Amino acid sequence: MTQFDVDLFVIGAGSGGVRAARIAAGYGAKVMVAEEYRVGGTCVIRGCVPKKLMVYASRFADDFHDAAGFGWNVGEPTFDWATLIRNKDTEIDRLEGIYRANLEKAGVEILNSRAVIEDAHTVHILNTGARIRARYILVAVGAHPTMDPPIPGGELGITSNEVFHLETLPKRIMVVGGGYIAVEFAGVFAGLGSQVTLVHRGDKLLRGFDEDIRDALGEAYAQRGVNLALQKTLARLDKTADGIAATLSDGSVMTVDQVLVATGRRPNTKGLGLEKAGVTVDEVGAIPVDAYSQTLTPSIYAVGDVTNRANLTPIAIREGHAFADTVFGAKPTIVDHDLIPTAVFSTPEIGVIGCGENAARTIYGDVDVYRTTFRPMKATLSGGSERVLMKLIVDKASDKVVGVHIMGHDAGEMIQLAGVAVTMGATKADFDRTVAVHPTAAEELVTMR
Ligand code: NDP
Repeated sequence: MTQFDVDLFVIGAGSGGVRAARIAAGYGAKVMVAEEYRVGGTCVIRGCVPKKLMVYASRFADDFHDAAGFGWNVGEPTFDWATLIRNKDTEIDRLEGIYRANLEKAGVEILNSRAVIEDAHTVHILNTGARIRARYILVAVGAHPTMDPPIPGGELGITSNEVFHLETLPKRIMVVGGGYIAVEFAGVFAGLGSQVTLVHRGDKLLRGFDEDIRDALGEAYAQRGVNLALQKTLARLDKTADGIAATLSDGSVMTVDQVLVATGRRPNTKGLGLEKAGVTVDEVGAIPVDAYSQTLTPSIYAVGDVTNRANLTPIAIREGHAFADTVFGAKPTIVDHDLIPTAVFSTPEIGVIGCGENAARTIYGDVDVYRTTFRPMKATLSGGSERVLMKLIVDKASDKVVGVHIMGHDAGEMIQLAGVAVTMGATKADFDRTVAVHPTAAEELVTMR
């Protein structure tokens, strides 16, 4: 019988890899994890967590402004970028420590090295030159930001990897892209007082979201002072005495201090040796897997962003957990990628589960749409101009709520709970018979008629 050094070798200690390693070890498997950068992966180190801390920071400007209408005099607030970055880094260090400790507590051995695949059961540890034989290999190496196609002077721009470590708050920043990352950082920098230009090739932000949400976000950003340069792309960047001159596709030139390119991410499969084990990748470099996250090479599985299914932390965690249950826990488990609640931490925030109105009409045919927009109660005294938008999409035949769309303060918190109802198959009648919590914004979800 072939001898293996470990039952499972995980490449990549991000959300998916860490969960898989811990659960597999809990089932008694001997597990090793290799990580070439920092334990925690994109989400903890340079994604969701530091981003959310920066989103919090950016919203205090509104809070200081709003306080006046409630009788507070907070003087002239000032903001110190260095303090935010330092405190954020301390928190990320703490979280990384917790991730490491949890892996060690579970009995998982962590190797601080890049690891590449040599064959269906062998991993080469580049730092030490060691070769580890594994019964199973899990590829959980994530993705990286891309600028594709490259443009002249592209190296003058930054990506979401660098944005967390800028030495100073840019006075003028151009953000390129119209997806989650571009929209969230445009909101962060606008809140912190930068002049923000958001350049996007489409006519609206957040393609794939409900059209009302897309319209409302565009209006809200324009109102918050974000300069929206739509239906344009970035053509070139040049260093000048005054900053970076960004030339757009219409020939216009704008000088800014930073250019954040957020035009998508690509799986980290280059140079990983997958082909040596018979694992092919698709046109964007993602690893095709079946419903159990297994590749065409039976001993190799892949989870998370490297598979380019739904590129969200909670999904990577579920995929990692399901893999461990399936392979080491004798509990074959499939992750449902269909009904995923999600939030965009723009300001105002967006929370969504299920289909938008147009998609629902295509899928279900006859749908009822309930829509409300209102001024949140806090704005009555603060004088703020923000509005809340809520939308329910209901399949007429079954009365099931098949889409919930919220834009406004705490939409992410609201959609998590609405998501429970929708996941359970709640009908509009179920929403209607739920007693409102008054006075809240969320009560509108159960009072729309
Ligand atoms: P997205 O795929 O969400 O957005 C990419 C954006 O860049 C789109 O607006 C796209 O336009 C545009 N784009 C793509 N290629 C080009 C090009 N060549 N020229 C000009 N524009 C281009 O990627 P992100 O990088 O924003 O985020 C990656 C993923 O990370 C997200 O999809 C999401 O899954 C995850 N994420 C989730 C977050 C959350 O849950 N809050 C936060 C951050 C990231 P078009 O729409 O026309 O294709």
